[in-house]
Amino acid sequence: MSPYGKIFLIFGTIQVMLDKKILLTITAFTAFATMSLAQPKTDAEKKAIQSAREKEAAKTEIWEPVPAKVTPGKLAGEAPSDAIVLMNGKDLNAWQKENGGAPTWKIDKDGATTVVKGTGNLETKQAFGSIQLHIEWREPTAIAGSSQSRGNSGIFFMGRYELQVLDSYDNPTYVNGQAGSMYKQHIPLVNASRKPGEWQVYDVVFTAPQFYADGNLQTPAYITVFHNGILVQNHVAIKGGTEWIGQPKYTAHKEKETLILQDHGKDGGNPMSYRNIWIRELQ
Ligand code: MG
Repeated sequence: MSPYGKIFLIFGTIQVMLDKKILLTITAFTAFATMSLAQPKTDAEKKAIQSAREKEAAKTEIWEPVPAKVTPGKLAGEAPSDAIVLMNGKDLNAWQKENGGAPTWKIDKDGATTVVKGTGNLETKQAFGSIQLHIEWREPTAIAGSSQSRGNSGIFFMGRYELQVLDSYDNPTYVNGQAGSMYKQHIPLVNASRKPGEWQVYDVVFTAPQFYADGNLQTPAYITVFHNGILVQNHVAIKGGTEWIGQPKYTAHKEKETLILQDHGKDGGNPMSYRNIWIRELQ
């Protein structure tokens, strides 16, 4: 026999052995599959199987810590039991004029707090980090001005990151400056504006930025905004402090800073109103 003949014989033998192995494996698998499909016969067997399944399921259950109980408001938009109420329609005790002094905005008979043009911004006395915010606002029925001069205000998170407030019902302007925009940073996903004179709502989740000890940015601020219940900002990263001219950039600040409502000044028709503002502090 030539060496090639031997090699062929060996190869042939291995092939037969492999085939047998495959055959054995298939036989064993079929037997196992048949066993697996076999139904438990007795109640004891059924119980044992169920008990084993429950033990497996319990391995992925988490029981502690138990989330705190919070009582929701009776109506949608009402402050829940753990909220800090900032504007209740009766007083402005939670507020001051920006950088100090008594608030200059006025509470109307209907409980709305209306901007007194040109008298300055409204600032919370308390400082906040990451928050959930509910805030209601209304544009004046008497339409005056256009573009950025029609019902302009703004909500400045940590005193520097502006969520735009504007009459954008029928009022073209640059889209990164319309209602629901993070001013000059993020265009709203849709225009969810109601007509002037109708109350509108922002529900917001704001995550504060973090800075390294040397002042460099560690993580940016993030914001999610619902405008009248419609998503307009979906967890977007804020690019830095709001700028009218030039690009935004971060400057290190405290972990907690005040919330500021904008008085856009004497130009155009900006005497818009706010009501029912509450905050929940987030970890
Ligand atoms: Mg503004």
